[in-house]
Amino acid sequence: MKITAITPYVVNTDLPGLPKEMTDQYCFVRIDTDEGISGWGECTSWPNRGSFMTGFGVLQIRDYIIGQDAANTEKIWREIFDRWSYLGGRGLPTAVASAIDIALWDIKGRALGRPIYDLLGGKFRDEVRLYANGWFTGSTTPEEYGRDAARTVAEGHDAMKLDPFLGNGIIWNGGNLSHEAEQKGYDIVAAVREGVGPDVEILIDAHGMYDVPNAVRIANTLHEESNIAWFEEPLPPESYKALAQVRQQVSAPICVGERLYTRWDFVPVLEDGLADFIMPDVVWTGGISELKKIATMAEAYYIPISPHNAMGPLQIAAGANVMMTVPNFYRLEHCTSWIPNYNHFLKEPFDFHDGKLKLSGNPGLGVDIDQDKIDAAINEEWAAIAG
Ligand SMILES: [Mg+2]
Repeated sequence: MKITAITPYVVNTDLPGLPKEMTDQYCFVRIDTDEGISGWGECTSWPNRGSFMTGFGVLQIRDYIIGQDAANTEKIWREIFDRWSYLGGRGLPTAVASAIDIALWDIKGRALGRPIYDLLGGKFRDEVRLYANGWFTGSTTPEEYGRDAARTVAEGHDAMKLDPFLGNGIIWNGGNLSHEAEQKGYDIVAAVREGVGPDVEILIDAHGMYDVPNAVRIANTLHEESNIAWFEEPLPPESYKALAQVRQQVSAPICVGERLYTRWDFVPVLEDGLADFIMPDVVWTGGISELKKIATMAEAYYIPISPHNAMGPLQIAAGANVMMTVPNFYRLEHCTSWIPNYNHFLKEPFDFHDGKLKLSGNPGLGVDIDQDKIDAAINEEWAAIAG
C-alpha cells in the first residue's frame, strides 16, 4: 500500500480561555494511499503560530515520504528524524514525524480492521482515566476558581490541573514572579482545595517559567498549604542538572516531559530519577510509535506516564489508543472547556464520561474526521502558503 499524498491543514478553531495569538489553530495531516485508505494525524503546536511551523515542516518533507509503503512506520519515522534533525531533534522534526506516524497508524488500523490499541498489544484497560484542564475558563478570583473546581468534581472528575500563576504568556519570563502574583496563585490553589475537598488531586503546571530558587519555594509552599499532587515543568526543559537541584529540594511530586522529545530526551529523567511522572506529548515527541516506546522505558523504571494532551482531537485519540495498552499509565489530560472544539471536526463525538474516555473500538484511531468541517475552517494565510 503506497502513500500517494500527504496534506497538512492548518485550520482555525475558537478555543475559549487563552489569548487568540497563542492557541487559535490546529494542524491536521491527511495521508492518502493507492488502496483508497486514508489516515489522519495531528501536529498542532502553540503558542505563537506553532501550527504554521509544523504544517510547513510537513510540506517540506512530504515529497520524500510519498511513494513509500504506508505499513513501514518504523522506517519512515527514522527517515524523517535522521534527515531533518541535523540542526537538532528537539521539537520541530519530531512534531512532523508525529503527524505522519499517527496518520500511518490510522491507515494500518483501518487496513487491518482493528483499533490501533489492538496492534500495540491490546487492551490493558477498557477506558482511559482522565484529568481535567481548562475547567477554570473565565475564572479570575480565588472564589471563582473554587466554585469552578467544585463544579468540575460534581461533573465526575477526581483530578484537575491549573497554572495559578499564568499571566505572562507561555514563554520563559526570566524565572521571576511578583510577590502579588505569587500570593494570588497560592490563594487560588487554596480556594480550589477548599472547593474540591481533601481527596481530589490538584496538579500544578508551572509551564517552565521559573528558575531554581523560585521553583523550589513555590512548589514547597503549594505542597505544604494545599497538598498538590504534582508540580509540572518547574523549569525550562533544557537543563537536567537544574531539574536535579529542584528535585533534591522539593517535597511535591515532580512531572516533566511535554517538551522532551523522543526516547532519548527521557533517558536522563529516568536514569537520574528526576521525576515522579512523565508526560510526553504524542503530537510533539514522535507520535504513537515513540509514545509507546517511552512508556515502556518508564515502565522499566516504575515511573507512571501521563501524556500531555492540550492540543486537538487527534492528539486525544492517538494518546488514548497508546494508553489503552500501557501498564504504567496514570491519567490522560483533556481540557473540559474545549470538548466542543475537539468534537467539531469529528463525525461522531468523543465519549467522555465520569472522568474517563471510552474509545469507540472502530478501526484505526477510532474517530472519523469530517472533511467538510476541515475544508470550511482552513486558515486563510495557510491556504495562500499551501496552495
Ligand atoms: Mg504543561
